[in-house]
Amino acid sequence: MSQDAPRPGGSRTGGPRLGGPRLGGRRGRAHGTVAWAVAGAGPLTWRRRRAVGAAVPRRVAMLSVHTSPLHQPGTGDAGGMNVYIVELAKRLADLGIEVEIFTRATTGGLPPTVELTPGAEGVLVRHIDAGPYEGLAKEDLPTQLCAFTHGVMQAEASQRPGYYDIVHSHYWLSGHVGWLAAQRWGVPLVHTMHTMAKVKNAALAKGDTPEPAARVIGETQIVEAADRLIANTEEEADQLVHHYAAAREKVAVVHPGVNLDRFHPADGRVAARARLGLPPDAFVPLFAGRIQPLKAPDVLLRAVAIVLNEDPSLRERLVVPVVGGPSGSGLAKPERLHKLAAQLGVADVVRFQPPVEQDRLADWYRAATVLVMPSYSESFGLVALEAEACGTPVIAAAVGGLPIAVKDGVSGLLVPGHEPADYARALRHFIDGPRLADHLGTAAVDHAQAFGWEAVAAATAEVYARALHDHRRLAAHA
Ligand code: UDP
Repeated sequence: MSQDAPRPGGSRTGGPRLGGPRLGGRRGRAHGTVAWAVAGAGPLTWRRRRAVGAAVPRRVAMLSVHTSPLHQPGTGDAGGMNVYIVELAKRLADLGIEVEIFTRATTGGLPPTVELTPGAEGVLVRHIDAGPYEGLAKEDLPTQLCAFTHGVMQAEASQRPGYYDIVHSHYWLSGHVGWLAAQRWGVPLVHTMHTMAKVKNAALAKGDTPEPAARVIGETQIVEAADRLIANTEEEADQLVHHYAAAREKVAVVHPGVNLDRFHPADGRVAARARLGLPPDAFVPLFAGRIQPLKAPDVLLRAVAIVLNEDPSLRERLVVPVVGGPSGSGLAKPERLHKLAAQLGVADVVRFQPPVEQDRLADWYRAATVLVMPSYSESFGLVALEAEACGTPVIAAAVGGLPIAVKDGVSGLLVPGHEPADYARALRHFIDGPRLADHLGTAAVDHAQAFGWEAVAAATAEVYARALHDHRRLAAHA
C-alpha cells in the first residue's frame, strides 16, 4: 500500500490537537479529534514539503535513557514505552524521517551503534556508556544523567552542525537530557511522559510505593522546558495542564497504536490453543504485561477464586495464563503472586509464563477467551489494543487510556474500580454466555483497526513540523 494512502481506518486515530492554525486536517472518527491525515500526508508529501523549504524534520534524536528499544518488553523496565519507540521510529523512517535512538548501555561489549532492524535503514540505536552495566536501578539513574548527556553531546559533536533537527525525549529521565541537548543544538524539544508521578501516586495499589518527590520536580521542569508535549489521551493532556501547569497549546494528543500486521486473528482461537498446548474448550482469562501491583494481576486471581467458589465444576476447564515478568515495585517480592495463587487455592489453574516475543504473545491473545486488565493506572494500555486486534475482547479497569482502547459493551467490558467481585461478575458474563467472546471479539478487531502505528507516526511528524516551524520563526525574530 502506498504511504500516501493511509491504511483503511488508520487515519482515524486521534491526531494532534494543538493551539494555533490547523494544517487542513480532516475529521477523525475517533472521539472527534482532528485526524493526522492532513492533505496527502506521506513520504512524498514530506519530501515535497521539504523541497519547498517547509519546516520538516530530517533526523530526530530520540532519547530513551532507562530502557533500550532492543530489550524484550514485558518485564523489568521494558514495556509499552519500548514498543512505542520501536514502532514509532520505524514508521517515521517509512515517512523519510531518520531516527537515532540514544539509550544507556546495560551490558558490556555492545556496539556503539546498531541498526534497530538489521538490514533496514533509517533507525539507528546508539549505546551510551553512563554508569555500570549492571546493578543500577531506574531509581539510581538520575545520578547518571550528566554522564549520559555527555555521551549524547559527544555523538553529535562528531557530526556536521545541524545534524539533528528535533529532540524527542521519552519519560522524564530522558527529558532532562533532551532539555540540555535541544538547547545546545538550537532545536526544539518534543517530550512524551508515558507515565507521570503525580498521576501514579493518586491511584496507587494498596501498599504500593509512591513515586519520589524528585521525579515530580523533574517532570515539572521538563513540562516548562519542552516546546511540545505529546499526550496519549485527552485525559493525559488535562493532567499535564492541571498537575504540571503545562500550557495547553503546546500539548498534542496522539493515541498510541497497535501493529496490525503482527496482531490479527490469524487462524483463530482453536489453532492458537493447539500451538500453546491449551485445551480447545477451556475458559481462558489472560493476564499479559509487567507483573507489579500497579497492573493488579492479583485482582484477576481473586476474581478467579470467587468464580471457582461459586462454581467448583468450572475448575476442570479453567486456565489462567499470566504472561510477563516482575517489574517496578513488584521486583521486591517476585514470588508474591505465586504465593497469593496458593493462598487463594487457585495455583492449579494459574499458568505463569515468562515474557515472550510479540509474535508468540499474539498467540496467547488469540488463545484467550478474554484479556483481563484490572490496572490501577494505565497511560494507555497497549496490550488491550493488541488483544482486540487478535479478536479477543478485554475486561479492563476504566482508568487512563483504557476507556479509549476498550469500547465498553462493544469490544469488551469496562469495570469501575478494583473490587475482585466486580471482575468476577464480568468473568461470569463470558462463562454464562459462551458466544459473548466471539461477539465482542469480532467488534474488537474492527475497533483496533483505528489505531495503526502509521497514523501515530504521521501525527507525530506533524507535531515535529509545527515545533520546528515555531522554533525557526522565534529564532528569526530573536
Ligand atoms: N509484551 C511483550 N511480551 C510479554 C508481555 C508484554 O512483548 O510477554 C509487550 C506487549 O506486547 C505490549 C507491552 O509489552 O506492547 C506492554 O505495554 P502496555 O502499554 O500494556 O504496558 P506498560 O508496559 O507500558 O505498562
